[in-house]
Amino acid sequence: MIQRDYLIIGSGIGGGSACESIRKYDKRGSVTLVGAEQLLPYKRWMLSKTFLRDKVPPLKKLPHLEPGWYESHKIETRLGTMVTQFNIDRRLAVLGNGETIEFNKALLAMGSRPVRPPVAGVSLGNVIYLRTIRDALALREMASLEKAIVVIGGGLLACEAAASLRQMKFKVSMMHRGQNLLNRYLDPETAAWLTALYVKSGVTLLSGESLNGFEGKTVLRNIQTKSGNRVAAGVAVVACGAEPNLDLVRNTPLSGPHGSPVSEYLETEEKGIYAVGDLAFYPDRIMGGVRRQTHWENAREQGMVAGANMTGKKRIRYEQVPYFWTEMFDMKLEFVGDFSMQPTRVELRGAYAKKKFVVRHYQGDKLRALLLCDAQPREVEAAKAELRTALGK
Ligand SMILES: Cc1cc2nc3c(=O)[nH]c(=O)nc-3n(C[C@H](O)[C@H](O)[C@H](O)COP(=O)(O)OP(=O)(O)OC[C@H]3O[C@@H](n4cnc5c(N)ncnc54)[C@H](O)[C@@H]3O)c2cc1C
Repeated sequence: MIQRDYLIIGSGIGGGSACESIRKYDKRGSVTLVGAEQLLPYKRWMLSKTFLRDKVPPLKKLPHLEPGWYESHKIETRLGTMVTQFNIDRRLAVLGNGETIEFNKALLAMGSRPVRPPVAGVSLGNVIYLRTIRDALALREMASLEKAIVVIGGGLLACEAAASLRQMKFKVSMMHRGQNLLNRYLDPETAAWLTALYVKSGVTLLSGESLNGFEGKTVLRNIQTKSGNRVAAGVAVVACGAEPNLDLVRNTPLSGPHGSPVSEYLETEEKGIYAVGDLAFYPDRIMGGVRRQTHWENAREQGMVAGANMTGKKRIRYEQVPYFWTEMFDMKLEFVGDFSMQPTRVELRGAYAKKKFVVRHYQGDKLRALLLCDAQPREVEAAKAELRTALGK
């Protein structure tokens, strides 16, 4: 049996960052990183942006660390390999190839997967769920063959994919339930402005429509809506949210309805077993409450904190201001704070027309979030500081 001091399950940015952090504080402990994908941790966020758009996919820019880092830091990597069983009491993990690893500490960093809508035809060819490099390469290929593309969803990933595909000059429609795009995060006025921008950029909006099913024998031909419409489509990009990859620990205390519950140190209730990134349900020491985020910086920082804590040399609380960014067309939007509730009041500074503005979200008289368009890094840092001050943190 293989024995390891640290077992990291999932080679996304959460798992990769934990390896970096472990090596910072423990130069000698044995570490194995197991990942279902074939690649070492890479910049997943690029997949809906330049990786999709550039004439030649920028493969060299994709890795998170320079090639050779894991080897030179004596981190054993097992890629293209699933962990298929996780025995909490015995501290054992079984790999897809039948090998067993006995570990001292473990990290759950299995991330999330695209939600598959409960309708007919979800597995037809040309129905794409954009999560991995393979999905992005497939989308590039199919988009170039089939000109009519329908993006299902109106959230962050849907908006990014639709904008990129439109920039590639494809005929793009978006089917989404609400009237406005990104309405989960934006106030009504900003959402209406963004939606109008998509229309102006040539994206056809099928607003207020719900998906009823995908039609076709082996490949997609049409998309049916609940209202009885039928939309011709050669490719569908499904972007209806992400759910945590918790099958490995289902029906254990490491899995809950909202993710894997962890303490402020990112440790689960099982001592020595930690969880980070898209699957961690953590106490938010800045905004209050408990949350799960599906954003890059969150997974990155949580990986760093959990890795340090796993070594026992540090005991760091995770206390970052929630932050994420998105890019669409020529814009970068940055989100600082808590966007889970519609604000009772907003304050706009700057101008939508110039694509340079800040929208402050208030609940009553309390500042809860800031949305920044086209901001410099120092302005984002200032926004985080402003929020901390407003919250007395
Ligand atoms: C196309 C796209 C664009 C994005 N753009 C942005 C953006 O602009 N801004 C932003 O903030 N966020 C963005 N995100 C979200 C961000 O990429 C994620 O929040 C982040 O990647 C989460 O990291 P993670 O390490 O928690 O999980 P993941 O990146 O999901 O990695 C988890 C890894 O674990 C593997 N795994 C799962 N189960 C097992 C198992 N049993 N055994 C072994 N391996 C397993 C998975 O295959 C995967 O490789 C984007 C996401 C996508 C898909």
